[in-house]
Amino acid sequence: MGSALNPQRTIEELKELRRLTGDENGAQRVAFTPTWLKAREFLKQRFEGLPVETHIDAAGNFWATLRGEKKQELLMGGHIDSVPNGGWLDGCLNVLAGVEVLRRIYAETKGKPPVTVRVVDWADEEGARFGKSLFGSSACSGNLDMNEARALTDKEGIRLPDALKQVGIDFERVKESRQELKNAAAYLELHIEQGPVLLDLNLPLGAVLGTCGVERHAITFRGQAAHSGSTPMNRRKDAFLAAARMGPEIYKIAERNAPGVCTIGSCTTKPGIVTSVVEECRITLDQRHLDAKQLARMHAEAQVASERFAKEGGCTVSWDRIWHIAPAPFHPELIQFCDDAIRETCGKSHRLPSGPLHDAAEVCMAGVPTVMMFVQSLHGISHNKIEDTKEEHLAMCVEAFDRLAEKTIKWILAKS
Ligand SMILES: [Zn+2]
Repeated sequence: MGSALNPQRTIEELKELRRLTGDENGAQRVAFTPTWLKAREFLKQRFEGLPVETHIDAAGNFWATLRGEKKQELLMGGHIDSVPNGGWLDGCLNVLAGVEVLRRIYAETKGKPPVTVRVVDWADEEGARFGKSLFGSSACSGNLDMNEARALTDKEGIRLPDALKQVGIDFERVKESRQELKNAAAYLELHIEQGPVLLDLNLPLGAVLGTCGVERHAITFRGQAAHSGSTPMNRRKDAFLAAARMGPEIYKIAERNAPGVCTIGSCTTKPGIVTSVVEECRITLDQRHLDAKQLARMHAEAQVASERFAKEGGCTVSWDRIWHIAPAPFHPELIQFCDDAIRETCGKSHRLPSGPLHDAAEVCMAGVPTVMMFVQSLHGISHNKIEDTKEEHLAMCVEAFDRLAEKTIKWILAKS
């Protein structure tokens, strides 16, 4: 294998896509916009001349299918949409690498692979316009909350169902896309890491263990407003002080539950004036872990700490859950194949969880054996025009991803 694979072509296509759909501020492929449609057209053109069927499913996901001898399917996916002013690799690397692997399989099997091979471009992974990420893949997995999604509006007040209608999608039928997964035997997704772990280890590639579960809460401490001049320090019920003590505490919680992560991302105070002790302080807490038990423990530890800080400060505290999602651990055998493919390509592999969510989490939760491969991100940054990966690493990831696909096909055949 390998001779028909041309990773350099993927790099050229990524650059061409950047020219077509980016500007001086970065990628502009926001879902359901004309630029996104242009990117999709570019993707569709990649399959011209191949005996590949393409269609858009009920949720707006794009599928390209190369029929094989068996109906069992190998799926490779990603998202061609970007955030506004996004990077040149996030999402589209995944899809275009899938295209290259499909071409290699086509060439080597004379157009008749042993299993059916499909490339999927999930619609609106980023959720940049409506604030709901993983739209297409969550519709397909069945996890999309229809009532919540029906009520979403963009900043112009346009409702999600109306925006979908503009691009030919009937919101009420999006979950019919579930049928796309009925023969899915495995799902593979390549992605830039978007973080600094592989960079710090000086490794090009990593095998992803799963996507972390998330607990996201608002925590409100209530004390008493009082004059900043006349109230002695020992008489205050300072809601800010109680909330602020959570700051160092979450670092201890994360350390006790390594490699979990905790973030206090926002803090608002009332009355919020310079001459008053804070009466009410609301902070948000985002906690992530690949292990469900440890995630639950991180959450419980934060709750206990908040109650202690409230009590010690003469305040009260209340918690409101903003959002949560369970961890999605990937398939152990596929993780092993991913590790092997990486080692065969560049000598050394590393296993790591994904803090960010990906479409792969939805496919995994739908019960399809899933794994992701990460390639190093320079600067450890994405969702920014400075997002970048060394070209030699891009070439390596296409090669390793291809090896992973080959191993997975053999695995599907052995099982069927
Ligand atoms: Zn992405």
